Parts: sequence; structure tokens; C-alpha cells
Amino acid sequence: MTEDDIIKFDTADPLAAHRRYFELPANTIYLNGNSLGPLTTASKYRVREVVESQWGNDLISSWNKHQWIDLPLTVGEKIAPLIGAAPGQVLCCDSVSVNLFKLLAAALTNRASKRTVILSQQDNFPSDLYIAEGLINLLQEHGISAELRLVAAENLEEGIAQSPDVLLLTHVNFRTGAVHDMQRLTARAHDHDVPVIWDLSHSAGAMELALDDCQVDFAVGCGYKFLNGGPGAPAFLYVASRLQAELQQPLQGWMGHKQPFAFEPKYVPDAGINQLQTGTPGILSMSALDAALSCFEGLTTTQLREKSLALSTMFLSLLEEDLTCESLTLVSPREPEQRGAQLSFSHDDAFPISQALIEAGVIVDFRAPDLIRLGFSPLFLSFNEVAKSAAILRQILTEGQFRQERFSVRAKVT
Ligand SMILES: *Cc1c(COP(=O)(O)O)cnc(C)c1O
Repeated sequence: MTEDDIIKFDTADPLAAHRRYFELPANTIYLNGNSLGPLTTASKYRVREVVESQWGNDLISSWNKHQWIDLPLTVGEKIAPLIGAAPGQVLCCDSVSVNLFKLLAAALTNRASKRTVILSQQDNFPSDLYIAEGLINLLQEHGISAELRLVAAENLEEGIAQSPDVLLLTHVNFRTGAVHDMQRLTARAHDHDVPVIWDLSHSAGAMELALDDCQVDFAVGCGYKFLNGGPGAPAFLYVASRLQAELQQPLQGWMGHKQPFAFEPKYVPDAGINQLQTGTPGILSMSALDAALSCFEGLTTTQLREKSLALSTMFLSLLEEDLTCESLTLVSPREPEQRGAQLSFSHDDAFPISQALIEAGVIVDFRAPDLIRLGFSPLFLSFNEVAKSAAILRQILTEGQFRQERFSVRAKVT
């Protein structure tokens, strides 16, 4: 691939102009938008306005005047088209972990079975498993027979056939980037009358998603990864309309009450998706996410998916043009359709290599024990940047500068 070829990719890229919405530091190629999306100019100004003008001047009247009170619903509606959801089914609130607790508990309520089995995948994101385990412990302490059953990806269908009470899966694996067939697994689960909760943390904003079409029951997803909502941005959740009337979720706080400002001692859930709210939303961070979502306006998820796959495919082919890269093992699916918006490579020296890349201005991350993870965010990366980062990685591997001692010092967050 020549430099001219790479320029052609950028010239033909329908998303190229979106780069200008982002505030990226100079001399930095940001391949970590899958972990923490970068700052958008829209978020920067919105947060400033919310702090200085709304909070600063309008104080408490802002809940009505600036519709703070409606943000969980309005932000939810902005996320809805990115995940293939019709209105009234998506809410922005809390963290993924907390939302998962609410939905797992809701999915298990009203189940007739004497046993409560949550089926998930061994290498699911640990926080998802910790939340499930916590719920299981709680049920067991109250004398309910409960089990978190973990199987390998290839044994999921077998596990579904044993009719667990709920299936909890992450659409794109955070380590390998392997993507599940949402349509097929959801249908399989429904064949056995098993409701499904999908975690879309590594999918929303970078993949084509069709929750309604797949008849998904429940979903959660992350606001600070491909949606670029900022550090600790609130997450989102989805509950299919058909399930909302019967729903019972345990974290029933006043924001999910039918009339929070009636201050009734008895909890009465609001109708619809809003009953999934718990406490007061964090307006500063929800505003940042709200503004960041404006960058997706006018785009289709097909465009996002195509660009992201084109970026990762180019990276892979440039990297592999050189035989010195044999020491890196691709652990992501080679088949583009089978991976999300990331590539992961294993290497015995994954950590020092990731540090050497970062020092060279290519921001990636390391996942224990031996993975280098690169995210291909479709909104702000150019083909030229991706080509450059492949060249830098090749150079680091060939020249071996990652062996210098300073690259092996580990900080708290990796
Ligand atoms: C990032 C991520 C989360 C984050 O959970 P929080 O509770 O919002 O910190 C959860 N699940 C998966 C699969 C993730 O990738």
C-alpha cells in the first residue's frame, strides 16, 4: 500500500469531516477511544455553560428551565437510534454495573422456576460477573437456590438448551474483540423461554445494532467509550416496550417514582422506561454525554461500522506486510465481520510495547496478562493516522526499544 493509496482512503471517507468535532492533542494518535472516548468541543462548551450559566446563574430553577429533570430520557432517546431501538425504551442513568444489577434482578422476578440460574460467559467483563455473583449471594442468603453458570463461548448454545433463567452476554468481548451473533443467540434463548441481557459497552457507537429487530429483552451499555461522554459518563439501559408493564426493579428510588415530588411514603413506579431511574442524575456528566452524542447526528450505524472495519483492516494488512511482526499474535478474529471495533495482539512483552507506543504518541492500552489493545473509533481517526501507527509499532518491534527498563514500570490504571 503506497502513501497515495492511504490518501485516497481519507479523501473518500464520508466521516472524515467529523474529526473537527474533537479536541485531540497534537502529535497523538488515539487508539483508545474504545476505553475512554476523547473530548468533543461540544461537550467542552456544554459543560462550561451548564456550570457557569445554568448552575451558576439559574441555580435550582435549572431543573425546569434547562430541562435537567428530563435529561435521562432525552439522552436515552439520542442513544436509541445507535442501538436500533424505537422511542420509549432507552434511559441514561447510573453506571453499567448498577444498571446491570437492576436488569438482572428485574429479569429474574416473576420467573416461576424454583432455581435461579444466570448463564454467562467465562471471559465476560469481570464487573458484569461480579454484579451477577453479588445478586446470586443475596438470593442464596434468602434461601433461594441460585447459581451463576459460566461457560466458554463455544458452549453457550448447549448452556441455553438447559433453560437457565436469564442469559447475560457482552456483545463484543473486551479482550479479543470477538462479536456474538445477537440475532441468533437471542432467538436461541427465546426458543427456550430465556430472557436475554446484552451488554453493549464495546458496541454502541461503533457497530450496527438492531435491538428491536432482534427482539432483545434487556440491554446495558457504556457512555464513556465509543459514545465519547467523558470519564465516568453515565451509562444507558434498554428494556423492550413489551416488558415494561410487568417490570419490577429493586433499586427503586424517587427518580423512578410516578410522582417524585409528591413525596409519598409508598413507592409507585413510573410508567415506562423511566421506572428504571434511581437517584438524582449527575447533570454535569450527563450534559457532557448529551453534547457528545450530537456528533452522531446524520450518520448511520452502517457508516460507523464500515469505517471502523476499514481502519482495522488497513492496520492489520500494513502491520503484516513485515515479517518481523510475527512475534505478535492476533487474538481478535481475522474475519472483519466477526470482530468489533478493536484489534488485540498478544505478546510476552505486551506491557512494555504498549508503553513504548504511548511514548511515541500512539495511545493504546494493555490488558493483563499479555494483550495490547487498539481501538478503531470511526468518528475521529484517519486512515493516515492508522497507517502511521502501524509503522511505529513495526519500528518498535524491529528496533526493540521497548526493552528499555522504564517501559516496564506499571501505574495503577493500565
Ligand atoms: C466498560 C465496561 C463496563 C463498565 O462498567 P461501569 O460500571 O460503567 O464502570 C461494563 N461492562 C463492560 C462489558 C464494559 O466493557
